[in-house]
Amino acid sequence: MVKGKCDRCTKKAVIDLPYGPHQFCKEHFVRFFEKRVRKTCRAHDLIAPGEKILVAYSGGKDSAVTLYLVNKLFSKVNEVHALLIDEEIEGYRDRALDIAEANCREWKIPFTRVSFKDEFGITMVEVMQKTGAKKKIGSTCSYCGVLRRKLMNQYSKKLKANKLATGHNLDDEAQSILMNVCEADLKRFVRLGARAGVSSIKGLVPRIKPLWECPEIEIISFAGYEGIKFYEEQCCPFKWQAKRNDFRAIMNHLESSYPGTMHSILSFLKQVKPKLAAKKKGVRTLNSCKECGEPCNGEICQPCKLIKRIVEKKS
Ligand code: SF4
Ligand SMILES: [Zn+2]
Ligand SMILES: [Zn+2]
Repeated sequence: MVKGKCDRCTKKAVIDLPYGPHQFCKEHFVRFFEKRVRKTCRAHDLIAPGEKILVAYSGGKDSAVTLYLVNKLFSKVNEVHALLIDEEIEGYRDRALDIAEANCREWKIPFTRVSFKDEFGITMVEVMQKTGAKKKIGSTCSYCGVLRRKLMNQYSKKLKANKLATGHNLDDEAQSILMNVCEADLKRFVRLGARAGVSSIKGLVPRIKPLWECPEIEIISFAGYEGIKFYEEQCCPFKWQAKRNDFRAIMNHLESSYPGTMHSILSFLKQVKPKLAAKKKGVRTLNSCKECGEPCNGEICQPCKLIKRIVEKKS
C-alpha cells in the first residue's frame, strides 16, 4: 500500500520506487517511465530518425511494452514493424502470439509472423526430443535462442530494418552482468549493453534494448496503467534455467535490501565497457555460413549445425 502524495502533483501516489526514492500518481509514473525510455534511446544512439525498427515481439510484457513505446515515441519519424516468432510450443507460444497479433492490429502496426516449422522444418518440441536438451540445465533455452536469433537477423535484413529491438529489461541485464562476472566470461560481459555487441559486424543487424533501464516490476505497472494486454498465464514449459533463477533470486534480494543495486550494476557496466571494448571498435567482417550465408566464426553457423544434427537423428 503506497502512502502519501505524488512527487509531482497533489494526487495520491499509486506507486513507490524505493531506489529514487520516488512516489508517483498514475499519470506522472507513465510520464517518468516514457521519459526514461526516451533518455536511454538518446544516450545510447539506439534509434535515429528515418530508421526502420523491427521489434521482436513474443506476446509477453517486455516485448509488448517495447513495441508499444517504440511505436508511440518514434513512429512519427520512424517505420515500425513487429516480428512474431513461433517456436511452436503448443499451448504456450501460440496463445501468446494470438494476443500479440491482436495488439498489432489494434495499434495498427504491421507485423510478420514466422514459425520454426516453416523456417527450419522442426518445432521446438522436436528439437527437445532429438537433442535431449532437457537433460542439460539451461540447454533448452540456448538451442531456442540460437534459432530465434538467426530468424531475427534474417528477417531484419529481409524487411530492410536498420535496427532490431528486443524487450530486455533492467532485471535481465543486471542478472546477466552478475552471471558473466561469476563465470569470468569477459567476452559475453562486453557484449552486454543497451546496444548489444562491441563492434559492428557486417551482415548482423544491430540489436537494441529500449527498456534497458526499466525494472521488470515497473514494466508490469506501466502495461497495467496503459491498458496493454500481454500473455501472462504460464511460463514456457521448457524453462529450466535453474542458474538464472538463482541469480534472479539473489538480485531481487539485493534490490529489496539495498534499493538501487540493479541501477548501480548497470552503471558499472557503463563505466567499464568503453575501456574493455576500445580496441574492438569499428566494423568487423565474419565468414559467411556455407549453408545459409549468415555471418559466423567458422565455416558453418551454429543454427545450421544444430539443424543438421537433428535432421541426421531424424533419418
Ligand atoms: S523459455 Fe527458453 S525454450 Fe522457452 S521460449 Fe524462451 S528461450 Fe525458448
Ligand atoms: Zn502526479
Ligand atoms: Zn548457417
